[in-house]
Amino acid sequence: MSGITERLNAIRTTIPEGVCLLAISKYYPVEAIEEAYNAGQRDFGENKAQDLVVKEQALPKDIRWHFTGHLQSNKIKYIAPFVYMIHSIDSLQLLKEINKHGAKVGRKINCLLQIHIAREESKFGFTPDECLAMLEKEEWKELQNIEIRGLMCMASNTDDMSQVRDEFSAVKNLFDHIKERWFAQSTSFDTISAGMSGDYITAMECGSTCVRIGSSIFEG
Ligand SMILES: *Cc1c(COP(=O)(O)O)cnc(C)c1O
Repeated sequence: MSGITERLNAIRTTIPEGVCLLAISKYYPVEAIEEAYNAGQRDFGENKAQDLVVKEQALPKDIRWHFTGHLQSNKIKYIAPFVYMIHSIDSLQLLKEINKHGAKVGRKINCLLQIHIAREESKFGFTPDECLAMLEKEEWKELQNIEIRGLMCMASNTDDMSQVRDEFSAVKNLFDHIKERWFAQSTSFDTISAGMSGDYITAMECGSTCVRIGSSIFEG
């Protein structure tokens, strides 16, 4: 046994009800995902459209597939028929493109706005100001085939947990502000996707409702 079931069960004991455990399977083969599936896991995330398509075809249909990588417009059509949630929206343009493909396949696709909060340059996403400016224009309100479900972020890759905590807290504050300003009447703006293997406990303490865990499940 590779130990995936044991590690998954151990992680579950640390995650309260109401927080979604998303298994990030991007580096791992179908067999590893099957083991997690057999242990009851149903939410999986991938970073590449091609991998997502191949794995979706090979695995049971009741899996909820999340897309967590940088999404190029020309790849949307491959995942639009089945993807459950796209965590990495970083422009209004991308939202419009997803909406177009959602309409073609008759689906409403769940989307999260990715917030660039880490100090690293390399991470994608809106700055908080860019995110607010995009929402302010309210063009997104016309998009019938996407649902903005919340925010996603990646904290800085650092051992300084107080910095990580500050970053997660900033996203939680932004989430609360956006909810009050634009989604007060809505029950669907409900997701903060934050926290990975190394920082998910801190993320949950700061309000995360969806933790994205890869290596701690699949590698131990
Ligand atoms: C790889 C990845 C994760 C999981 O990272 P681990 O450290 O392996 O838990 C979470 N979120 C995103 C966006 C990723 O790319």
